[in-house]
Formats: sequence, C-alpha cells, structure tokens
Amino acid sequence: MGEGMNINEWEKRYSIAYYNISKILTGIRGIFVAYNCNVDAIKHVKEKDIHKLISTVGKKSVQQRVTEYPREIQDPVDLVARLVIAMRDGKAAEVPTYTTEIHKWLMDNLVFDKARMGGQAGIISNLLANLGINNVIVYVPWLSKEQAEYFVDTANIKYPVIEDGVLKFKHPSEAYDSYQKPKVNWILEFSKGTKFELAEEVFEVPRDNRLIISSRPTWVRIDMSEDLYEHLSKMNGMIDGAILSGYQMIKEEYEDGTTYRHYVKRAVKVIERLKEGNPNMRIHVEFTSIQNKVIRKAILKDIVYKHVSSLGLDTIEVANALNVLGHEELAYAVISKGENSISALYEGAVKLLCELKLERVHVHSLGFYICVASRDFPLTVEEHRDALMFSATLAAAQALHGDIGSLKDGQTALKVPISERGHDDLEQLEKYLVRRDVCTGTEFEDGCICAINHDLIVIPTKVVQDPVGTVGIGDTISAGAFAAILAMLRKKQIDN
Ligand code: ADP
Repeated sequence: MGEGMNINEWEKRYSIAYYNISKILTGIRGIFVAYNCNVDAIKHVKEKDIHKLISTVGKKSVQQRVTEYPREIQDPVDLVARLVIAMRDGKAAEVPTYTTEIHKWLMDNLVFDKARMGGQAGIISNLLANLGINNVIVYVPWLSKEQAEYFVDTANIKYPVIEDGVLKFKHPSEAYDSYQKPKVNWILEFSKGTKFELAEEVFEVPRDNRLIISSRPTWVRIDMSEDLYEHLSKMNGMIDGAILSGYQMIKEEYEDGTTYRHYVKRAVKVIERLKEGNPNMRIHVEFTSIQNKVIRKAILKDIVYKHVSSLGLDTIEVANALNVLGHEELAYAVISKGENSISALYEGAVKLLCELKLERVHVHSLGFYICVASRDFPLTVEEHRDALMFSATLAAAQALHGDIGSLKDGQTALKVPISERGHDDLEQLEKYLVRRDVCTGTEFEDGCICAINHDLIVIPTKVVQDPVGTVGIGDTISAGAFAAILAMLRKKQIDN
C-alpha cells in the first residue's frame, strides 16, 4: 500500500478531530429537529410470559392464527400468533399495528421491563442536547405526555409553541398536548433456549432475536401545524441548520382521501420556509429503509432533490435509493458481497450527490465511512474528515455505553481501536480509484481526495467488539457529523 497513514496515525487524527470539533460546537446557534419520535417499550419474553399470553387469548385461536400468518396486528390473537412464529423460528420481525388498543392490552397483560426514547428525531434531539448545542428546537406533530418524559431534562431542548400569536419555546414536558395518545413501539426480545408449548408441540427458540410491534396509528401525519408554519421564519437567528427525518411514515393514501402528494408538498414548503431569509441554512435528511417504492421515490425526487443539502444513509439504503433512481445494476453491486461492492458504494454516493443536487452524502458502514461532497462547499476535505471522525467517535461511544450523556462521554470512545477490517476494506476502494485515475495511492492514504467534480473523504472507523446497544447508532453518526459541519461553517462565518 501507499506511504500514507497507518492505523496509529489515524488514531492521532481522531483525537485531534474530536478535540477540534468539541471546542467549536457551542458556536452553533441552534439546530431544528423534526418529525418522528416514539417510545420504545422493551420486554424480555420469558417462558412464563409466553405461556401466560397463550393461555390468556386461548391456545386454539393462537394455533389457528399462526397458520393465517397475520401481516398486521389487529387484536391480541394476532400479536400472540406473530410472537409464537418469531420465537419458533428465532427470526427478527417487525409488524405494524394501526390502533393504540394493542399498547393498552400489552400494558395490562405483559408490562415492559424498560422504556426509552425511539424514533430518529427523538434520538437525535436528545443526543444534540447532551452534546451541549445551544438550541435544540424539536418538533414532533404528536407530542403526548408520555412521549415528553423521554426527552432529556436540559434547558437547551426547546419545543415551539404559539401563544397569543407569539412564538415561544418550552421544554417538551411543558408543551405536550394532553389529549394526544402516545405512539409506543413494543420490542419483544427472546432468548435462545426458551421453551414453550402449543398444541401438544414443544418449541425451543433457536436464536436470540426480537419482534417489533410498530405503532402506526391513523393520526400519525408528517406535517406541521399551520400556526407553527406561519412562525417558522421567526426562528431565523436561532438556528443554523435542520435535521429532518420520518418521511418514511408518509402513506400513499389516507382514510380521508388525501394522498402522499399533499404531505410531500407540505414537507417541501417547510424546508423552503426554514431557508427563507437565511441563505446559509443547511438541511440534513436522515434516510431510512422504506419498502414502498412510490414513497421512497417521492422522498428522493421531490423532497430531497434541490431542497436538501446533506443526506445520511447506510449501505443498504444507498442500494434502495439507487434502485428507485433507475440504477438497478449499481444497486445490485452495492449489496453484493464481492470485491466491487465498496467501489459501487462510492459510485452510488456520487450518483446521489449529483442527481439529487446535494452538497454532501455521508454513507456509514461497519468499519468505514465514505463521504462525497460538492467541490464548492465552503469546507476543506480535511474539515469534512474531522466531521466524520468526530461522528465515528460518538458512534463508538454509543456502542460502548448505550447512550451519550456529554461530550466527555463521547471522548471516552477515543480508546476504542480503529477497525483493521474497515481499514483493509478501504484498500479495495483505493485500488479502484487508482485504476480509474481518480487519485494516487498516496492521496488516498489520508482519506482526503479532491477528484475532478467532487471531494471524497474516506475514514476507517472505531468498532466496539461487544456493543451494549446498537439502536440509533446510524442516527448518531449522521447527526454528529452534520453538527460538526455546522460548527465549522459557523466558525468561518464569524471569522470572516
Ligand atoms: P440504526 O438505524 O439502527 O442506527 P443503521 O444501519 O442506520 O442502523 O446504522 C448502524 C451503523 O452503526 C453502522 O453503519 C455502523 O457504522 C455503526 N455501528 C454498528 N455497530 C457498531 C459498533 N459495534 N461499533 C461502532 N459502530 C457501530
């Protein structure tokens, strides 16, 4: 390989990057975060629990429902049947429920072991608040009393409310709608070896896994109250950027006859409004897996295209995005396990950058990140790289501790070693880029490449061997890097 950076040098860079970014993070005036948030109720299902559930709803009906394989949870029998299937097969599954009755039933019949903040906007706003960002203005269209309890109790988390025609900010715990029902997702975990009986047959769970009951009540709308929309531009001066997520919840059609087009239009108007009067406002969208291709395409071509500056996603999501943009072959290459997958990933990221008119695309994978950015973005490749290393340190901290209470907590992850495997994976990309004359081996080694029509930044990341938790790490990576970008942009603005 080339002369450049070995793992030790990368480690040094990591410390410097974390220090550099930590120092300037409070320069950011604020970040607006919307839309999706929920409560995750987690229950570890033991033998006695599954027996109790089966006998509560009746063996016969469960047995019958198992053969019908319900695709949605309408009643407790559906729920127990899907749990039996998941436990019998040891497979992970996610099944939607469109009523909040199931939540009530589970509270009466099972109760959770622990509950935590869920949903991208919820996870991201708590993270940013813990990192000490001045104003974290969070907006969730369905803020219930229960939900409000899961926001960290810090003064920098602010929920916008309009009182007597005036925009004010309160902590979510003082701003919730007392008539709003909570959106609670249940995560039912089970362990290998758990035994249960159904219709004279004894089953043994073959693998640790979980069943997620995702709550999608009909009142869930990715939208903003008219009041707030009218006042949005008044946040000017309080925020330097916005992180938007949850668009995957938009449905093709609603019971009242409206379609996704209505919500897509509204989503775009919100972005336009946020940018009004502030040409420096940056918008990051956190992309996520979505089965429905109509919605996936609308998110990319109507919401993201031309309106958004920064996109964060994992490798599977890159493939999904490429698929609806008409690059099926490249999408296939991205998910193939072969040597070419990393170069396909890079080519795919460039396609997203150019075709969606973005300023930066940040792809995270286990062991490395790839970021492509437009050449006229006002940051250097080294600054982009600092943002990535800062976010990778946060990701490792989250894997290590389960969550990040402060910048100091994040810093503890500097001791997590850089993944050799990730470092090695990058060699495939290096070979490809050198062969294509995009850069020389030496240029590749420090991860900062100025190609002809874009900047490319690649870093090996820190990977925690036995993670405490892996939920929401992707969100942490994207939000951490984007906050770092905003901090550097802000510093430039002030210095000039
Ligand atoms: P989620 O939506 O649950 O966050 P994603 O696939 O979006 O899932 O993100 C997961 C990302 O988290 C991976 O791409 C990887 O970069 C990072 N990650 C996962 N496990 C670890 C770990 N043990 N140590 C460090 N980073 C991890």
